[in-house]
Amino acid sequence: MLIVGGGVVGLCAALLLQYHGLDSVLVERRSGPSVLPRSRGLHARTSEIFRQLGIEEQVQAASALALKAGEFGGYRMGPTMLTSIAQPIPAKAEHFETPSPSSFCFLPQVELEPLLIDIARQRGADLRFDTELTTLRSHADGIEAVIARAGSGLQRVIGADYVIAADGANSGIRNSLGITGWELPPTHHYINVFFHADLADRVAGRTFSQCQIDNDIVHALMLSKNNTDEWSLHIEYDPNEETLADYPPSRCADLVREAIGAGDIDVEVLVRAVWDTGVHVANTYRHDRVLLAGDAAHRHSPSGGFGANTGIGDVHNLAWKLAAVLTGRAKPALLDTYEPERRPQAVTGARQARLRTDPQTRFQKAGAPGAPAELIDMEAVMTRYRYLSPAGADATSTTGHVAELRGQRGTRVPHLWLTRGEQRISTLDLCGPGFALITDVDHAAWADAARRAESETGCVVAVHGVGHDLVDIDGAWRAITGLHGGGALLVRPDHHVAARSDDDLSPATLASLLTSMLV
Ligand SMILES: Cc1cc2nc3c(=O)[nH]c(=O)nc-3n(C[C@H](O)[C@H](O)[C@H](O)COP(=O)(O)OP(=O)(O)OC[C@H]3O[C@@H](n4cnc5c(N)ncnc54)[C@H](O)[C@@H]3O)c2cc1C
Repeated sequence: MLIVGGGVVGLCAALLLQYHGLDSVLVERRSGPSVLPRSRGLHARTSEIFRQLGIEEQVQAASALALKAGEFGGYRMGPTMLTSIAQPIPAKAEHFETPSPSSFCFLPQVELEPLLIDIARQRGADLRFDTELTTLRSHADGIEAVIARAGSGLQRVIGADYVIAADGANSGIRNSLGITGWELPPTHHYINVFFHADLADRVAGRTFSQCQIDNDIVHALMLSKNNTDEWSLHIEYDPNEETLADYPPSRCADLVREAIGAGDIDVEVLVRAVWDTGVHVANTYRHDRVLLAGDAAHRHSPSGGFGANTGIGDVHNLAWKLAAVLTGRAKPALLDTYEPERRPQAVTGARQARLRTDPQTRFQKAGAPGAPAELIDMEAVMTRYRYLSPAGADATSTTGHVAELRGQRGTRVPHLWLTRGEQRISTLDLCGPGFALITDVDHAAWADAARRAESETGCVVAVHGVGHDLVDIDGAWRAITGLHGGGALLVRPDHHVAARSDDDLSPATLASLLTSMLV
């Protein structure tokens, strides 16, 4: 496996492939992690993926240190940061409505990426920074990639079975393959100014996550990185009139002071970059042996925090499929399920992010008076989506989503705390790296069926018995899933329900269902 791009998505791909027993080489043209703060929030669904990788605690520990002021804060609006007023956030509670063993986690990308690099290296990943992919050639039996060491002119050719193109929004791989996309033009253009300014005393008692600032000189969104001395100011600009070159550090520092509302502050501009709210979702996620993931596959406005989180979901979906194909347990056609499962989710995220570019809509609760009818809540976008049959999907199809996770086919398995001996475990902990069969009494019949399915398919099918080896303290499993005694759920390595016993799953059909799933 070759991974091109060592951003958050490429790094997660390396960890996930490793989890599934695959070696990979990751090439990244930068010399280290990104220094540009972009993503700050990890949705609970992403934390669940980190939990499966066994890195959730490390990420949460880093998160606890990231916010020096101790709290994430809310949303404020005003002519300056200092005169801004806290706004109510009606949608806030919705973030935590879907039961999960994990939670939303604040960890800026600039701190997450170095952590992922460390963990991946400790686990033996081959991460090559200062290394650029220059050419990709596809053959019938593999990929030939030319990689170059930055600044040395030295080139090497390496072979790979498949390539994950996690090479970002301007993906050279996507462009070289001529893959076009569904696009929406930008509504806003911004200069992202990451700066250092000690504002600890000035924000004490009124920390914030986002502060919308509008005065005669600057229209901007100020985002906190640690709510004390590192911040980003996203300054609106008109690309028909100006470029990044018109915003040298000295001008940016002046605009930062205007936005804060204090001319006496020491401001050190650390990095500047441009971005816009335009949407691009690739029309094709798979081209032969190349699979697009992350921003290479979908790019949209950050409002809602769906971008990196969706990218991590992409590689979670992909890694077990690649492992099944590369170990001969599945046919390459299994990889064709990647696009119909993940692309609608990206379109949903893009549409929902677009709605949230409007500050009035950003924090509204879906269905509340005055909220746009199309607005769906964040957890529906990030956790309660449903992989549907590809039949009938077109370029702008969005995901289906469910009101509650009840073990519906195609949804993330519902979370329930169970006990095994002294241990408290989530139903999500039962999943991966193989398939999980969560049964409810009649355990022996299912266990026999699982052994037969394993020998026919080569896939691991771990059987977990609620009421057998697992205690469901509150007796909730049947109520949540609607399954009766003797029922079972077959769950994929990526936590998604593949089959239910009140549909076509039975001890007699398990092996054939699994075989048909692996195409
Ligand atoms: C202002 C802002 C705020 C955001 N906030 C959030 C948020 O809160 N939550 C969220 O989920 N998302 C957020 N996003 C989006 C998020 O930052 C992106 O979705 C995420 O960074 C995409 O990660 P990636 O790994 O796909 O791409 P990137 O981070 O762009 O990484 C791609 C990497 O590929 C490398 N590369 C490219 N070509 C080659 C090559 N030929 N050879 C070797 N290396 C190559 C690049 O150097 C780069 O490091 C935000 C974005 C912006 C602009």
